[in-house]
Amino acid sequence: DNSPIHSPERQPEDPDAALRPKSLGEFVGQAAARENLRVFIEAAKGRGEAMDHVLFFGPPGLGKTTLAQIVAKELGVGFRSTSGPVIAKAGDLAALLTNLEPHDVLFIDEIHRLNPVVEEVLYPAMEDRALDIIIGEGPSARSVRIDLPPFTLVGATTRQGLLTTPLRDRFGIPVRLIFYTEDELLSVVARGARLLGMEIDESGAREIARRSRGTPRVAGRLMRRVRDFAQVKGAGTVSAAVADEALTRLEIDRLGLDAMDRRYLTMIATTYKGGPVGVETLAAGLAEPRDTVEEVVEPYLIQLGLIARTARGRCLNDGGWQHLGITPPAPFQG
Ligand code: ADP
Repeated sequence: DNSPIHSPERQPEDPDAALRPKSLGEFVGQAAARENLRVFIEAAKGRGEAMDHVLFFGPPGLGKTTLAQIVAKELGVGFRSTSGPVIAKAGDLAALLTNLEPHDVLFIDEIHRLNPVVEEVLYPAMEDRALDIIIGEGPSARSVRIDLPPFTLVGATTRQGLLTTPLRDRFGIPVRLIFYTEDELLSVVARGARLLGMEIDESGAREIARRSRGTPRVAGRLMRRVRDFAQVKGAGTVSAAVADEALTRLEIDRLGLDAMDRRYLTMIATTYKGGPVGVETLAAGLAEPRDTVEEVVEPYLIQLGLIARTARGRCLNDGGWQHLGITPPAPFQG
C-alpha cells in the first residue's frame, strides 16, 4: 500500500497553507539559507532595486514555496505564482511578465519542467529584463524588443542539475534546502499544534518530529492524522504512546519510513542481494516513475545512510540491512 499520507509531495487539496510561516523570523531551520536571504533582501531594499533571481532546490516539502512567498513579503513587493508545466506557450509567459509591477516576485515552481520554447523567452527576460517578440512571418518577420519592469524570478526545483545550464547560470542566488533535524521539526510540530489547537506534550511532539522524514510537509500531515486518531480514541493530550500507536497504524516505522521506502529497501536486499542495482530497474520493479524514486524516495534513505548511490548502481549499507532485520548474504567466494 502506497499511502499518500506520508508522501512529501504536494497533494491537490493541500491544507498546508494554514501552517505556512509568514516571515523569515517565523521560518524554522535552514539557517544558512535564511541568513543569506536576509542579507540579499536587505541589500536590494537598501538600493531600491529588484532583488537578483533566486533558485531554490531540494526535495519536496522542505519549504521552497513558503520561502518564495516570504521573500516577496520581506521585500514588500507583489507575489505572482505559476509552475513550469502550466506555462504551455511562449505567449503565456510573455503575458505574465508584462503584467508584473516593478520589483515583483514571479515564482515558477517545477521550473525544470518548462517547455524549451518558453525557456528561451525567459533568458532575455532574466538577463536584460526584456522580451524579444517576433512580428510577422517569413522574410518580412522582424524581432521587436519590449522592456519589462525590473522583477525577481524565484524558481524551485528538486535538483539543481535538472535545469539546463543556460537557465541555471541566470540565477544569481542559488539556495539549497536540506532535510530538517529532529529538533527543528520539533519546533515545526509545536508551532503547528498551537495553530491547529492540538493538545500534545513534548514526548508526543518529538515522536512525530522523529518520524517526519526530515520534512515539514510530512510533519504537518502526520500531525493531522495523529490528531484524528487521538480525538476518536478520546485520548485527550497526545503523548508519545498515542503518537506511536497512530503512526504505527499508518505503517510509519521507527525511522519514519513508510511502506514504499521499505519496499524499495527490501527489493535491493532480497531481489538484488544488496546491489548494486540500477535505478531504472528498481523503479520498474516498484512500478513507480524513476523521478519519484530519485527525487522523493532515495534522498532521505541516503541521508539516513541506509543506501548509497554508486557509479554501478544503488547498494544497501549496513544500516539498511540492520533496519530490515535481514542478515546480508556471505560475500561470494570465487
Ligand atoms: P516545497 O515548495 O519545498 O515543496 P512548501 O514550501 O510548500 O514546500 O512547504 C510545505 C509545507 O511545510 C508548508 O505549507 C508549511 O506548512 C510547511 N513548512 C515548510 N517549511 C517550514 C518551516 N521552516 N517551518 C514551518 N513549516 C514549514
